[in-house]
Amino acid sequence: MARIAVITVALALLCTAPALARVSANTAALQVALRAKGLYGGTVDGIAGPGTRAAVRALQARRGLAVDGVAGPRTRRALGRRGRPRLGSRPLAAPARGWDVAGLQFLLARHGFPSGPVDGGLGARTDAALRRFQAWAGLGADGVAGPATLAALRRSPPRSILTFAAPLGVTPTDRFGPRGAMFHTGQDYTAPLGTPVGAAGRGCVSSAGYDPGGYGNLVVIQHRAGMTSWYAHLRRISVRPGECVVAGTRIGRVGSTGHSTGPHLHYEIFKSGRRVNPYRYLASNAR
Ligand SMILES: [Zn+2]
Repeated sequence: MARIAVITVALALLCTAPALARVSANTAALQVALRAKGLYGGTVDGIAGPGTRAAVRALQARRGLAVDGVAGPRTRRALGRRGRPRLGSRPLAAPARGWDVAGLQFLLARHGFPSGPVDGGLGARTDAALRRFQAWAGLGADGVAGPATLAALRRSPPRSILTFAAPLGVTPTDRFGPRGAMFHTGQDYTAPLGTPVGAAGRGCVSSAGYDPGGYGNLVVIQHRAGMTSWYAHLRRISVRPGECVVAGTRIGRVGSTGHSTGPHLHYEIFKSGRRVNPYRYLASNAR
């Protein structure tokens, strides 16, 4: 239960799905700095899209710089302490602040270790996420992000050969990824109250009950290969801990319990304690 509560602190819901756009930790850090200046209200997604370029131009105009929409050294300087130091230029540990911290928070979230808002401040939540990532990556969990940690964060995580069925027969309404300055930790399926929810694959129920941290009525299924699937906000739970299921076994019904704004299923996949993008594991899209 304690583990669920800790994880739920980071239950920062996200959406979006731009699949192939170029994503960069430096662009995310730029977006965080522009948000703090009130110039950018978009998502911290690390993608230099039109909203980000418009915010850079607004900053440049305000500071009398050449208005080209490109965040070069002068523009970075105009961001003050939020525009420095460069990611990788120093080891990062609490209570560091700045551009590099925002980049670190963004990379942690993308690796399945979100830590609350991406805001450029290395506080207790980011420290905890950093240590969880280090342990997962087989590094010393010392809470100091030096070259080895940054190198691990820049590698693509290993893929699993396991695939899963969709828990509901509707198109997801919200995907795993950045949402505002937060990170959506799963995939959402909007459906009427009481719609049956199916297990995503063969496994056994490791927990089934009410999670006070935000998930509401929650079922967790343990699968092979260190993978678990999580089904949150259920109205009713139809399985018990220890019960084994196959893909499609009804595990509950769609509800709106916990931190939820309306009937939907919030569905997450973990691999060895790390959140992964459920979309990649759907049998129909696995790659
Ligand atoms: Zn959700």
